[in-house]
Amino acid sequence: MDFELGIDRSRSVKDAIESTGVPHTEVDLILVDGVSVGFGHLLMGGERVAVYPMFEALDVSALVRLRPRALRDPRFVADVHLGKLARHLRLAGFDTLWSNDWDDDHIVRESLAARRTILTRDKAMLRRREVERGYFVRATQSEEQLAEVVRALLLESLAAPFTRCRECNSLLEPVDKAQVLDRLPERVRNLYDSFRRCPGCGRLYWEGTHFARMRGIFDRLGT
Ligand SMILES: [Zn+2]
Repeated sequence: MDFELGIDRSRSVKDAIESTGVPHTEVDLILVDGVSVGFGHLLMGGERVAVYPMFEALDVSALVRLRPRALRDPRFVADVHLGKLARHLRLAGFDTLWSNDWDDDHIVRESLAARRTILTRDKAMLRRREVERGYFVRATQSEEQLAEVVRALLLESLAAPFTRCRECNSLLEPVDKAQVLDRLPERVRNLYDSFRRCPGCGRLYWEGTHFARMRGIFDRLGT
């Protein structure tokens, strides 16, 4: 999409881009008159600016990126409204922090402390100067949000279902069925043989309904 944008003289390319409503965290590559530049590059007027999104499935690796190719070891912090999405991501194996009482400042601190990508439906949070990694979630229904995030951030091949606790984000440990028999409902005892336990909160997991639903989401992504 091409359009003209009036600017104040000596405005940074970052400010100019954000004035169009695009948070800088969604930008991966900026070309000014065909040359790759950083966010601080000053515009004088008359330049042609091309802006490429983060995580676009388009190979621009030969050009200078603003960040290294991200998310080979993806970690997330989800905002207060995205608790269901956070649980889905954990079930898919992704390290995702979430709390229902974290304010924006806390979420940004968690992001910066461990290079976590902020997931939010609040563009104002992503426009904050200190934020380096963020993704604006467009979908409103939690399973659609999971599909959107997996697709947009190219996470499909990195999923590791049945490895992380959906409630506390801890990595699960295998546990012998014999050790947990007395904690299992009869139906589960009869149907499943493989179990894992959360060392954080003690919950037991087996490849039941939650995992079947999530597998369905991933299967539909492939079609
Ligand atoms: Zn747990």
